[in-house]
Amino acid sequence: MIKNKLKSLNVRPQKSKGQNFLYDLEAIRSIVSFGEPTADDKIVEIGPGLGALTAELLNVVHDITVIEIEEEFCNELKVKFGERVKIINQDVTNVDIPGEDILLYGNLPYSRSSDIIQWVIKLKNIKRAVFLLQKEFSERIAASPGTKAYGSLTVAVSLWCKATLGPIVTGDKFHPKANVRSQVLRLDFFKEPKVSFTPNFERVVRGSFNQRRKKLFNSLLSSGFLREEIEHALKFSGIDGGRRAETLTTEEFGRLAEGFAK
Ligand code: SAM
Repeated sequence: MIKNKLKSLNVRPQKSKGQNFLYDLEAIRSIVSFGEPTADDKIVEIGPGLGALTAELLNVVHDITVIEIEEEFCNELKVKFGERVKIINQDVTNVDIPGEDILLYGNLPYSRSSDIIQWVIKLKNIKRAVFLLQKEFSERIAASPGTKAYGSLTVAVSLWCKATLGPIVTGDKFHPKANVRSQVLRLDFFKEPKVSFTPNFERVVRGSFNQRRKKLFNSLLSSGFLREEIEHALKFSGIDGGRRAETLTTEEFGRLAEGFAK
């Protein structure tokens, strides 16, 4: 079915655009319901493809905008949904999402997961995001301190939202078949950042994880911070420079970043 549709649109699924299409209705429904949409929600869907998730979302809500990079899919969605869906034919990371308190959905192109997550956390008008991602990637975002999966992206996301893991979707539920497992990630955005935000937060976090296996002090040193400023920031925050970055909580990173700013 999907195969024939792609053929008639003359589109060959591209790996670089993450073009694997979900066809399993149960999986699609589990993604939709994990985001708990209600009739009044304003939904923006990233990468609707042939509209599998869109059709299911339309059973619950009526305000839907979709953003899709592939022009042929946009034309197809227009035929399929008519005026019921607003369609933006662009790379999502170049779009200013319209509206307030938006509920974002997306079975994301996995090659762009990292960019899209980093772009999403900078938006100020999202209340919740529900994404299907490669399982390991979702786990990375939802990881707890002290675990192997915990890293700079985990901390960057944790400043702006609470991450919860949802249903797992196996590769055979897609066409073409995906050779990895996927897992839903739900991000509930805070009204304010979790800790007082200083603009250097991301730089400090990235610097701390620069050399994961090294101690915090050395990792920061190797990423270009000066010895004196590191000593000052550690003293200000009361954090032992002999610890490893993966043991620090978001709150501790917040204090550390504040220490660098003062
Ligand atoms: N939602 C559909 C489904 O579940 O079957 C398709 C999901 S497929 C994994 C990812 C979709 O994102 C494709 O339709 C692809 O063309 C689109 N896409 C890829 N990169 C994009 C980008 N930068 N901006 C918007 N859409 C993109």
